[in-house]
Amino acid sequence: MTRVFDLHADLGMNIILKQEKNETRILENYHIQPMLQGEVYYCAAASFFDGSQNWKQMKEMITETRREIESSDCGWIRKPKDLDPESDKVSFIMTVEGMCGIHSNPKEKISWMYDQGVRIASLVWNETNDLATGTAGDPARGLTDKGRKVIREMNRLHMIVDVSHANEHTFWDIYNTSERPVIATHSNCRTLCEQPRNMTDEMIIATAERGGLIGMNSYRRFISADRKHQNALALAKHAKHIADIAGHQCLACGFDYLDYYRDMSKNKNDLYRADQTQNFIKALREVGFTEDQVEDIGYRNVFRFLKDNM
Ligand SMILES: [Zn+2]
Repeated sequence: MTRVFDLHADLGMNIILKQEKNETRILENYHIQPMLQGEVYYCAAASFFDGSQNWKQMKEMITETRREIESSDCGWIRKPKDLDPESDKVSFIMTVEGMCGIHSNPKEKISWMYDQGVRIASLVWNETNDLATGTAGDPARGLTDKGRKVIREMNRLHMIVDVSHANEHTFWDIYNTSERPVIATHSNCRTLCEQPRNMTDEMIIATAERGGLIGMNSYRRFISADRKHQNALALAKHAKHIADIAGHQCLACGFDYLDYYRDMSKNKNDLYRADQTQNFIKALREVGFTEDQVEDIGYRNVFRFLKDNM
């Protein structure tokens, strides 16, 4: 067994949906146990915005996610000293996926998110918004001036920029604007699976050269177009490809498990829930990573990155 840091779990939406049904203690009742079974001791609790939310709705999801973390029997990562390699509880770090609700006063809003505990954030999901362009947007459009301001403010606060849903144009604009390394919390390789959500070799190498991270995504369509190869072993081969072209120090996990949203009856494989996470760790050994490298990919690369950049 190897400890794992999962850089992407869409927990914010799940918290809101369950609260609407008058449920409480959602992390404890639904999420922490499967994480512990899979040795996921560190997890990014993302607040996800698909382009349709306003600032009030963004604030609500981020606030409720913070309250859940504060009231649960878990750790909360806000500073490097909160990274405990021996903790027996799950620790969460707050992240944001998409900033569609930001139209004015970006500096104030980023600062509010930071005060709530958000330490990693992407400017855009797949849509096009006031700040940036996602994977479904115009390939000729990238970051806007407002988006550049957001990047600078994030750099100033040490809030980490996530490029996972950015289109290629936005990726390179962010790369050229950000003074700090960026991370792709949940993206694989385009060379092994042609998909705009995955990264080209050039993007991977550029991210790694600056000390950034790439979190391996378990979503089956981002692993392979071929149903027979949508599994933990095929995902480990993405990791192997990245290690071959850019070194293993940039590798991390960002599984984006969706079992708590989707009916998985037709989508089951050996890596769709947190309690199956060790299947990926086992697959990393099978494709040739050493025990030391497996530990790095499991959580140590993320610890090192956060200690340097948070
Ligand atoms: Zn996503």
